Amino acid sequence: MIVSKFGGTSVGSYAAMQHSASIVAAEPDRKLVVISATSGTTNDLVALGNSELSYTEREEILMRIEKRHLEIIEQLKDGEEVDKQVRLLLTELRQHLEQIARDKRWKDHLVAFGELLSTRIFTQVLGEAGVEVEWLDARDMMKTDSHFGQADPDLKVIKKKCAKYVQSGKRYLTQGFIGSDIFGNTTTLGRGGSDLSASLFAEAVEADMLEIWTDVAGIYTTDPRVVPAARPIHEITFDEAAELSVFGGKVLHPATLKPAMRGGVKVRVASSSEPNKKGTVIVHEAGDAPVIRALSLRKHQTLLTVKSLDMLHQYGYLAKLFQVLANHKISVDLVSTSEVSVSLTLDTAVSASNKVELTSEVVTELESFCELKIEKDFSLIAMIGNNLNNTAGISGKLFNMLKGYNIRMVCHGSSENNVCFLVNQEDGEEILQLLHKEFIED
Ligand code: ADP
Ligand code: ASP
Ligand code: MG
Repeated sequence: MIVSKFGGTSVGSYAAMQHSASIVAAEPDRKLVVISATSGTTNDLVALGNSELSYTEREEILMRIEKRHLEIIEQLKDGEEVDKQVRLLLTELRQHLEQIARDKRWKDHLVAFGELLSTRIFTQVLGEAGVEVEWLDARDMMKTDSHFGQADPDLKVIKKKCAKYVQSGKRYLTQGFIGSDIFGNTTTLGRGGSDLSASLFAEAVEADMLEIWTDVAGIYTTDPRVVPAARPIHEITFDEAAELSVFGGKVLHPATLKPAMRGGVKVRVASSSEPNKKGTVIVHEAGDAPVIRALSLRKHQTLLTVKSLDMLHQYGYLAKLFQVLANHKISVDLVSTSEVSVSLTLDTAVSASNKVELTSEVVTELESFCELKIEKDFSLIAMIGNNLNNTAGISGKLFNMLKGYNIRMVCHGSSENNVCFLVNQEDGEEILQLLHKEFIED
């Protein structure tokens, strides 16, 4: 059994949907298909959730969403029934906007319209390609806690629900990204969460393979949008791919690989517009283990420097600091300490699947026992590969290459799979290109 996930661009237009449908049609084992909202729609829905929008701005966004979906329907051979379903959803969306003003929980319900719309249309596209699927509401299976915007899935319940709804032999289509809590409220798994949904479903139904169909032919040596010379990696280990996704390789949601790894599910990443290209397979042991396999870049990182005059020979201070951060659900990326100060980096990028917000409450609480310095807009670069903590000369080479740049923080040694460092945001892309040329192209 194969679980196949198609991202936003792979279902973003009628032509894209047709490509994706022909991929599903080509392999009868593709039994559970998971899709995202059409590309741009989740961003539009998030924008609609902003209570400060003027009436005209709101209408503009709504019209854009409507047009995007109705244009696809117009091209269907038999779009009458879907047209009704989609128009109904669009009406519900408008009604829902009235409710949102009253209750913040409804934001997840709002963004869920993207996946609800795309799956309705794609069911018909699949039908016209000769694939009969049953449409499933992912909220019946993807059970989560009530942490809206970033819900935590409950695997045990998901397994039970999948056993109830997914029968062997049949083919299904469902939504990525969305779920529901025990009260039945709609929840979402964080931006880019469809990859994670598909992986959880793959684990739950004990699939043999998880396929991530996207707009690039696999996992590349770095983001091909930033470094045009980047090339696809045909085979990568779970550890390397997990590091890459955690450190900003947007091609996979950072939590995607855990469920697949736990469930012993093979993973393949490939392009839905060029399905004949090899793509990437993620394996437990790869044929080669280069010291540097890939590079990643994450923008809009915040550097927090915490200083306490009491820290000299103090114990318990770090524990207290991390406890405050934990109480506010703030996850920390890099840490570097000296006797009197600690520097931490936080992922404050708006696009982050787990965006960190330094609220005034956290700042006040921290300031009650330490001096704080908050600096914004850095880029975090990670070099990902193997045996990095035991390979002589990596830091030397790196520092030598970057001597013209200001490196604010370096983490090397704690992981065998990565070396990462923080630089000024405006230097990030240039450094990435430089490192790619030196460590990967040459
Ligand atoms: P989807 O909508 O299919 O989930 P995403 O936009 O979320 O697609 O992810 C695919 C994008 O990830 C690519 O278009 C590419 O620009 C970006 N990306 C970042 N890093 C990498 C990488 N190392 N390999 C491939 N793509 C990457
Ligand atoms: N549609 C959601 C988003 O744009 C989930 C996804 O695409 O994976 O974040
Ligand atoms: Mg994605």
